[in-house]
Amino acid sequence: MEIIACPLCGSKNTHSMITTPARLPYFARGYTCDDCQFKGIPLIFSSEKIYKKFLHILKRT
Ligand SMILES: [Zn+2]
Repeated sequence: MEIIACPLCGSKNTHSMITTPARLPYFARGYTCDDCQFKGIPLIFSSEKIYKKFLHILKRT
């Protein structure tokens, strides 16, 4: 299962800003983060394990 996360704060509270045809991939849509108001392209992780690693790096910087 893919995980969509905010590249700035690592939050998973991201959602699509605009209604676009469902066949469009994530990166073709505008995303916004509920936690830090980031707008743009989200990060997509292929597994929870990789996502957790990202969070770990994010906290150290
Ligand atoms: Zn965020």
